[in-house]
Amino acid sequence: MSGILLQVENLTIRYRDAAEPAVRELCFQLAEGESLSLHGPSGAGKSTVAWALMGMLEAYRAIGTGRITFAGETVDLEESPRGLRRSWREIALVPQSSMSALNPVRTVEQTMLEMMEAHEGRGSRRERIRRCEALLQLVRLDAAVLHSYPHELSGGMRQRLSIALAVMYHPRLLILDEATTGLDLLVEADILGTIRKLREREGMSILMITHDRRLADAFCSRRVEIGGGHG
Ligand code: ADP
Repeated sequence: MSGILLQVENLTIRYRDAAEPAVRELCFQLAEGESLSLHGPSGAGKSTVAWALMGMLEAYRAIGTGRITFAGETVDLEESPRGLRRSWREIALVPQSSMSALNPVRTVEQTMLEMMEAHEGRGSRRERIRRCEALLQLVRLDAAVLHSYPHELSGGMRQRLSIALAVMYHPRLLILDEATTGLDLLVEADILGTIRKLREREGMSILMITHDRRLADAFCSRRVEIGGGHG
């Protein structure tokens, strides 16, 4: 039996300097272990929904109303303007542009170790590097990537790396925001295969944000439409 992991009720979000809301009265729910797509055209408010789920509305100067329930805890955006505040262990995001999410002056190893230190405090470097290598292996990247800078990697490799960072703490919900947009079809298929295996292995739920209907239907068992009609 699968329960509801995420429920979004009447989510409306407006950026402070915008006249019209970016997201209007959005409702959907996602069951434990489900893969759901949030599909709509560019500008429909899809990434804005991801920011709300990541607790980043204030950082983007956006104001929301409505309710978000995750794993039994409900946040009313009028009372908690930041949105949902769950740790990377529970909800993780693979952003659209992995280049902007990765620090350009850090090697992959430095980025991964810093993330572990931020989440876990001090610890054995050797043990952590072993974990980094295992994570890279999971997304089919060679361990040599640890010594690379983001600009030295291809777009597909950077997306794989973003996925490795996102699954580092076995999140219950993985949000993919146009995670394979701009990659060629073979690389996309390969990365989606990796995500599918990870999902089966880890029992994660997936929210796939995409403008690509073909992709949404190929990867997810259900689709929620956003924007299009009224935006
Ligand atoms: P999508 O991900 O579906 O392409 P977005 O959530 O990025 O849509 O954007 C939805 C709307 O909000 C668009 O009209 C966009 O211009 C606007 N928007 C996005 N980010 C900001 C921001 N930081 N400040 C003001 N408006 C924004």
